[in-house]
Amino acid sequence: MPYEKAYGAFDCPRCGSDVVPVAGGYRCTVCGHFIPSSDLPSTENVRILVGSPTRKPPVGDEKHLFFDTSNNIIYKGTGTGWSSFVPTYNVVTKTSNYTASNGDCILADASSGAITITLPSPSNNAIVNVKKIDSSTNAVTVEPNGSETIDGSSSKTIDTQYESYTFISDGTNWYII
Ligand SMILES: [Zn+2]
Repeated sequence: MPYEKAYGAFDCPRCGSDVVPVAGGYRCTVCGHFIPSSDLPSTENVRILVGSPTRKPPVGDEKHLFFDTSNNIIYKGTGTGWSSFVPTYNVVTKTSNYTASNGDCILADASSGAITITLPSPSNNAIVNVKKIDSSTNAVTVEPNGSETIDGSSSKTIDTQYESYTFISDGTNWYII
């Protein structure tokens, strides 16, 4: 069965190994111990699974959240399939140099001096938004983490109040969308 790891879920009460769903309950992948669904507290009926897209649990087994670590997408079971959560931004205000994380929306305040926002290492579907919120002429410079590019360039300068760019990665470089 396509399970890589489960967090916050029940493990086999006999040997502590991962369990997989079978008809009427769950079965330990190691010792074969069977746990009937009726024995499970309702709070433990959701499992969070982590893995590559090919490890997404099969349709019909949707009492799960699934984190696709290759594409940074979280899915929830719908009962008949899987739907991805739309990610939301983590809004942070920065007045000095800052290394962004995937999902950050950075309100950059350069009123006391130019600042540099460094993008995270590229990963597929990574997204960062940077907006200059101050009225000074100090620049907000967005730089990649290494030698990768932003729309083919080595950096992106933002020098107008309320100018905003969204940076998205294909896993190799960054692009402004
Ligand atoms: Zn077991």
